[in-house]
Amino acid sequence: MGAITRPAADAPVVAHSDVVVVGGGPAGLAAAAAAARNGASVTLLERYAYLGGLAAGGMVLVLDDFADGAEEITVAGVAQEMVERLEVLGLAVYPPPEDRILSAEMWRRWSRWGLFDLYAKGPQKSIVYAVAFDPDGWKRVSNDLAEEAGINVRLHSWYSAPIMEGDTIAGVISETKTGPQAVLGDVVIDASGDGDVAASAGAPFVEGSYMVTTVFRLGNVDTETAERFEQEQPAECHAVNRATRRILGGSWALWWLKTPLPGVVWCNCPHMTGYSGLSVEDLTTADREGRKKIAATVDYVRRHYPGFENAVVLDVAPQIGVRQSRLIEGEYVVTKDDVVNRAHFADSVARGRGYYTPYRAMLPRGVEQLLVAGRHYSVTPEAQKLSREIPPCMAMGEAAGVAAVEALDSSVTVRKADVGAIQRRLRAQGADPGDVPSPRARLAGGEVTGA
Ligand SMILES: Cc1cc2nc3c(=O)[nH]c(=O)nc-3n(C[C@H](O)[C@H](O)[C@H](O)COP(=O)(O)OP(=O)(O)OC[C@H]3O[C@@H](n4cnc5c(N)ncnc54)[C@H](O)[C@@H]3O)c2cc1C
Repeated sequence: MGAITRPAADAPVVAHSDVVVVGGGPAGLAAAAAAARNGASVTLLERYAYLGGLAAGGMVLVLDDFADGAEEITVAGVAQEMVERLEVLGLAVYPPPEDRILSAEMWRRWSRWGLFDLYAKGPQKSIVYAVAFDPDGWKRVSNDLAEEAGINVRLHSWYSAPIMEGDTIAGVISETKTGPQAVLGDVVIDASGDGDVAASAGAPFVEGSYMVTTVFRLGNVDTETAERFEQEQPAECHAVNRATRRILGGSWALWWLKTPLPGVVWCNCPHMTGYSGLSVEDLTTADREGRKKIAATVDYVRRHYPGFENAVVLDVAPQIGVRQSRLIEGEYVVTKDDVVNRAHFADSVARGRGYYTPYRAMLPRGVEQLLVAGRHYSVTPEAQKLSREIPPCMAMGEAAGVAAVEALDSSVTVRKADVGAIQRRLRAQGADPGDVPSPRARLAGGEVTGA
């Protein structure tokens, strides 16, 4: 159908900050908070009407990858602070330390909360430190945190173009109801999840893909009856679940999970494959397909699943769940082998389950003064599937915010920032940059440090 050249338009400068963060999801919020708390002026741009990204609008409602098995907590800092703030509101649920074991009793108690080791094999898995939370609680707590840190939050601002001075990014343009606006900054952090800033600024990337999901919640569910059915009539329950999952077309084995709100369950499904998270046509089709599957599912479970007789669709996530799209190529590309075998890096600035994220994986090639943090970091598509959960994305964001300030304070570019100083700042503020390898880490020479 051809193409047209857009008419040039002036973009008024609406802010000039030390640090500009694009994307108010888990990584972006942590980045903005860390930079602001370390003394920088910060503007945070978000396209939607709320902060939280997939953890709020995507209704992804369990924080995973906080821990390596039952013993070691690997993500602290802002991610843990979010949990504490949600807990005060009664909107976070997690197993106490004594319940974090592999046992039939603990499985019965916690599996329908989804708080188990996702990577364990077998029908019953070990209970671990993971957190079920409420999406509106996440939005509220994000607002509180941003306000207290003094972040200049600009919602309804859709990033569209970088402001470049040669190879250096000097700000961003966003589209708004009143036309384009410019925000200038000395460091830009791309926390868009899709690498929108880095890709348009000229950084190399690969386009990965993974299933997309129209997440939904059901209300009016009698979860006690549903759990009793599961425990007392396992064969019948298995058959109903199998039929439900066939209608959904794609889901995890436990297609419904409990939430902090009584009678409300979280359905991380239906999963759909073959769609690009960047294509308007694909996203439109997937959204519609997902809604049809949800309607058919509710119709079935109301008739066949004890406890779901009066279930209603409470909400379908306003944002379709895109797990993977662009992955930016940085100074180092994290591999599946690195993630699975807990490869330790001397420049580690963030941790996930057992794995480490080197600072180099947040430095895009070819663009100066730009950092990436979140699910589009520099990683192979296979490795990203295993290293993209919310807490590690927040750890990366926190590291990016600290790195930006460390570079500005030292008058060097972010590429030349002193990683030791970044690690020390992160430790001092309660984060775990992964500078000290765990006994199970694989060191650069290949050896494992301990048992
Ligand atoms: C269906 C699904 C289930 C998942 N299940 C789990 C789970 O159980 N546990 C878990 O821990 N993780 C889970 N994940 C992974 C996790 O949700 C994401 O990897 C994580 O949220 C990534 O955080 P982020 O901040 O990098 O990106 P996002 O959460 O995607 O946030 C990006 C933010 O940037 C904004 N943005 C994007 N483009 C622009 C633009 N051009 N201009 C302005 N703003 C922009 C977005 O609106 C959003 O707020 C799941 C993901 C999906 C999709």
